Amino acid sequence: MKSRRQFIKLGTVGSLSLITAQSCSSSQNNDNYERATPTPSKNKPIVISTWNHGQAANKAAWDILKNGGSSLDAVEKGVRVTESDPENMSVGLGGLPDRDGRVTLDACIMNHESNCGAVAFLEHIENPISVARKVMEETPHVMLAGEGALTFALEKGFVKTNLLTDKAKEAWKNWLKDSEYQPVINSENHDTIGMLALDEEGNLAGACTTSGMAYKLNGRIGDSPIIGAGLFVDNEVGAACATGVGEAVVRVAGSAIVVELMRQGKSPQEACEEAVKRIMDKHQNLDNLQVGFLALDKYGNYGSSSVYAGFNMALKDHKNDLLIDANYTLEW
Ligand code: ASP
Repeated sequence: MKSRRQFIKLGTVGSLSLITAQSCSSSQNNDNYERATPTPSKNKPIVISTWNHGQAANKAAWDILKNGGSSLDAVEKGVRVTESDPENMSVGLGGLPDRDGRVTLDACIMNHESNCGAVAFLEHIENPISVARKVMEETPHVMLAGEGALTFALEKGFVKTNLLTDKAKEAWKNWLKDSEYQPVINSENHDTIGMLALDEEGNLAGACTTSGMAYKLNGRIGDSPIIGAGLFVDNEVGAACATGVGEAVVRVAGSAIVVELMRQGKSPQEACEEAVKRIMDKHQNLDNLQVGFLALDKYGNYGSSSVYAGFNMALKDHKNDLLIDANYTLEW
């Protein structure tokens, strides 16, 4: 265990839990946390996401929630904004390709009734999250992958799109020059938007979508479309999602673990920290290991933790209609 950690403090302002980043020097226990106490009904509706650039996504989700819409609609509409943004290079359109220059997408969605849908290794479709929702609602299955997922999407009316933007193509070509065609796990070229929401009815839902590791092996699927790894929702308890190196998240069934820890009485913050610790225990080399979890309980309390510094999260202030950039850090 490394000697230094930065702690964050959860502060409560009025009835809204705001996040204030605060660093304290080393300690090996969790006593430095001032925790948000469960306050039934007070924090709903609410939406949070893993994405510090995700204000536009959170806003789209919030527009639905504040008008009494469902958490499921909110998370789908929210992450679609990021998927359709060609400027970000790790989700949907404009995502960095695999080492063969193919943009392959992973996404999943889960609702308050534990229904879920996912697509993996999906090409040519700008909004994989909506295909995942169709899998959930219009098939007896949970996950479709590759060609089958594409055929299904086209049958459902999704349009075939070139997802490889000039910017992403250029980045890939540059990578090819010095990479010797070897995929490496690195700290720069991957990200995911995971979004969790609680609606007025008290129902939770979550969505998770990514283009995965840049320059990965063709056919690689990460944690993001795997229910229980990239995302998990149990309406009796809470919801969690993950971002970062998918292989590490899968090894500990990350998001399912966070929810199970909350079921056992841990706060969202404590549960995320424990999941991070499990990942760290199982990985000797943490140099390039970026992993973070985000959790929301059924009362609207939230927390997050990550292996690396600077895990950013965006949340929607449900009282003041403000978008807040929040910075949760647990650095080891
Ligand atoms: N979890 C994603 C994956 O492994 C990438 C990321 O979130 O950084 O595909």
